[in-house]
Amino acid sequence: MTKIVVSACLLGCNCRYDGKNCYIREIEELKGKHTIIPVCPEQMGGLSTPRDPSEINGDKVFSNKGKDVTENYRRGAEMALQIAKMNGVEYALFKQKSPSCGKGKIYDGTFSSTVIDGLGMTSRMFIQNGIHVYADTEFEEFKQQIDK
Ligand code: SF4
Repeated sequence: MTKIVVSACLLGCNCRYDGKNCYIREIEELKGKHTIIPVCPEQMGGLSTPRDPSEINGDKVFSNKGKDVTENYRRGAEMALQIAKMNGVEYALFKQKSPSCGKGKIYDGTFSSTVIDGLGMTSRMFIQNGIHVYADTEFEEFKQQIDK
């Protein structure tokens, strides 16, 4: 059994900024075989649901109304990492393009739906701490890795 931190919205939790989720059916394949630990760094960082959408700009995070929410994102990332460390987690499966969970792709900070290469704040912190992070778009590769 592998312990995996998973973006809660991928599991069906309505924790997204718009109060919806990003459930992926493939996630059911992990249940029973592995230990799944859901996290939502944005909620854990003190942001409400629903909330204004935010994007990374440089080393800060701003809402679409121009509010600096960097501290919420940093706090949420640290809490998620703390949970991962307390549980000896080696893998994470995160939602692509999120300013928290995004791995490989994020929005460019202009709120124009432009996607660039990059990492969300939580993904970056996990990777810096030696945790293997996969995006939901890499699910097959991820599954092969943990089923080895
Ligand atoms: Fe999903 Fe992560 Fe955004 Fe929470 S912070 S809604 S878990 S992508």
